Amino acid sequence: MANPCGHEWIVSITQQEEEPDLDKALLGAISELAEIDAFAIYVNKHFNDDVAPVLLNKDSPLGVLESHEIASILQKVSKNKIRVSAAFGSYTSYIPMYYLGRVIGMLLVESDHELAERTTMLSIHILNVYANQLALIHRSRLDPLTELLNRQTFDTKVMEIVSDDQFSLSNEAQSWFLAIVDIDHFKRVNDNFGHVIGDEVILLLARLLKNNFKVDDFVFRYGGEEFAVLFYAKSDSDARRTLECLRKNVAEYPFPQVGQLTVSIGYLKLTEVDMVASLVNKADLALYHSKNNGRDQVTSYLDLNVVETVQNDDDGIELF
Ligand code: GH3
Ligand code: MG
Ligand code: MG
Repeated sequence: MANPCGHEWIVSITQQEEEPDLDKALLGAISELAEIDAFAIYVNKHFNDDVAPVLLNKDSPLGVLESHEIASILQKVSKNKIRVSAAFGSYTSYIPMYYLGRVIGMLLVESDHELAERTTMLSIHILNVYANQLALIHRSRLDPLTELLNRQTFDTKVMEIVSDDQFSLSNEAQSWFLAIVDIDHFKRVNDNFGHVIGDEVILLLARLLKNNFKVDDFVFRYGGEEFAVLFYAKSDSDARRTLECLRKNVAEYPFPQVGQLTVSIGYLKLTEVDMVASLVNKADLALYHSKNNGRDQVTSYLDLNVVETVQNDDDGIELF
């Protein structure tokens, strides 16, 4: 046997640094296991019980479970570990995926005989290594202080959103917006209260930000005391309402020791034509406008009435 203890599979899983590659490595390993033919893998990628587990191999003949069925099976496997149900000579094995002792997914295998112990043990091991690697990839995307997404993931996320097929469709009813939020006079907090209190303010602000947006929106710690948000809104004025609500919530929040603080915000609608740097640049221009106008306010890039120019193929300048 070329790969008797699954070493090659383990290595291929632990080498992956991107989620899609990691998923492929896991599916490859499981499909190569002896005895395993028809299978489905469900994983709760957010490590959070509020989010439904996803099916990794979408083409699986066994991937027909509703999310409430998956939740109920996951609960059963967490109590009984491996479960096997047999009917009419067909066996269904439910093999749990553990992360830090919790079940976060499962492998479902259909076969005409009960799986050998070696196969189940090897699958548990492979699933476990996958879960650890997934957690590692997740952690590498988060800012350690606030647990918001970090700056390194920002460009990728913007490009993912803009290049998604759904993006152009989304322009009709809802659009994606980018907002940059910067704490006003934060240097004074550090100077007057020290860095530890400064850090606590950043942490509390991160919470206010998370609570202000939907779970499907993305909140990043973009710099020291600067945050970026990618969020869905119906229109420019709808986006403004959301951001005004955040601005007000921050202004009214009693920060322990520090007291009152404010934020300045700049925002714009995402478009396919802009590069990430240009989007950030435009949001920054709107943010500077908020700062220069007295802080504690929200500015849309549209408010700036910037006349944009594009370079034609024949080197002429076209105004629009
Ligand atoms: P403005 O209203 O113009 O934004 O003024 P500001 O004082 O907030 O802006 P400035 O950029 O001058 O200062 C930002 C300060 O944030 C400087 C830096 O020491 C502090 N800072 C950056 N990252 C951290 C951090 O992680 N923890 C703490 N405690 N302070 C930080
Ligand atoms: Mg600031
Ligand atoms: Mg700043």
